[in-house]
Amino acid sequence: MSWALIPLTEEQRAIQQAARSFARAELAPHSVRWDRDASFDREVVGKLAALGFLGMMIPEEYDGQGLDTCTYLVALEEIAAVDASVAVLMSVHNSLPTQMILRWGSAEQKDRYLKGMARGELLGAFALSEPEAGSDAASLRAQATKDGDHYVLEGTKAWVSHGSMADVILCMARTDTPGERKGARGISTFILTPDMPGLHIGKKEDKMGLRGDPTVQLVLDGLRVPKANLLGEEGMGFVYAMQSLDNGRLGISAQAIGIARAALEHSVAYAAERKQFGKPIKEFQGVQFKLADMATRVTSSRALLYAAASAKDRGEPVTQFASMAKLQATETAMWVTTQAIQIFGGYGYVKEYPVERLFRDAKVTEIYEGTSEIQRIVIARELYARS
Ligand SMILES: Cc1cc2nc3c(=O)[nH]c(=O)nc-3n(C[C@H](O)[C@H](O)[C@H](O)COP(=O)(O)OP(=O)(O)OC[C@H]3O[C@@H](n4cnc5c(N)ncnc54)[C@H](O)[C@@H]3O)c2cc1C
Repeated sequence: MSWALIPLTEEQRAIQQAARSFARAELAPHSVRWDRDASFDREVVGKLAALGFLGMMIPEEYDGQGLDTCTYLVALEEIAAVDASVAVLMSVHNSLPTQMILRWGSAEQKDRYLKGMARGELLGAFALSEPEAGSDAASLRAQATKDGDHYVLEGTKAWVSHGSMADVILCMARTDTPGERKGARGISTFILTPDMPGLHIGKKEDKMGLRGDPTVQLVLDGLRVPKANLLGEEGMGFVYAMQSLDNGRLGISAQAIGIARAALEHSVAYAAERKQFGKPIKEFQGVQFKLADMATRVTSSRALLYAAASAKDRGEPVTQFASMAKLQATETAMWVTTQAIQIFGGYGYVKEYPVERLFRDAKVTEIYEGTSEIQRIVIARELYARS
């Protein structure tokens, strides 16, 4: 699919090629099995790390690649076009926990966690949601209570992407007291590691799609977290999480575009092969119109994403544009994968062909890191904030 609208640098082209080759060689042969069995080979994390793909936006002084957002998104789309589960792992790690420690972590936290995360030795996860707190994340209930040099955490975090494999989990919990609730300002962020007493892996979700990336609950059962593992200031955790989600939403946009692009490419190839009424179905205008609309939506989603990411790389505020990019890219992914199944006909509805998995993987992009409805709320709120 043409990238002609996005002027890539030589370095970006080389990274794109490396990501594409890696995805075809190391992910494509296993994706069907990971999806079928809801399994994942942990050594893939090491292979992503060897390419520098787990420290892309971390400065070189912390052992990262020191690349900009646009370059990271180029690589991420290539991974997502082959395996959306690996893409969400790469997106969460690069966009959320690493960026949070980079931005708000102490020198000691950067030394202790960020360097290992940049090298891909430590996999990062992000635990904001709870069973009763999704879109309304500020209503989360996990409670952190001070006890000497520690905080003691009680509660349940939900939907933690690769939470069962993670080495460093950025977890949001309340530090206000039941007697004096402070709303969003009563939430703090803690750096958790699996060796901390009282941290347990709970239920693993049996998902429709993204089955290669395990999604789990985390049970905080008297979890003792040293005070040194509080990120930044007490009471600022919700602000940190929301600001980080601007990054996250750009990553999910690239993931969605990768899924949509793959569905388009499979459809273009299939329409040239499949014959009905004595000719390839690509000869029918009804099919051509579908392909044209799919290509237009993928290209316009990517153009908006790179405009938003470029603004971020220039240091401009991107909350509204990140939400627009995510809304457009994820609804495009769902629409394009639906069209792809239609073009494949009955063969689109079975697991033998790839578009069925792409369709299932696309759906969650409209849900996590803020549903489409929440993106529309953010976009509309910014319209009034500026007027
Ligand atoms: C596979 C997967 C991976 C995930 N990974 C993570 C992760 O790593 N870390 C993490 O913290 N979370 C993660 N999540 C959680 C995800 O972010 C939430 O599922 C999402 O924010 C929606 O919350 P909810 O599921 O509780 O739905 P709800 O908030 O209950 O929403 C239900 C419906 O109501 C709508 N709705 C809610 N409020 C409004 C409103 N004000 N106006 C209009 N409509 C509204 C929603 O848009 C939705 O359609 C993941 C989820 C999934 C499915």
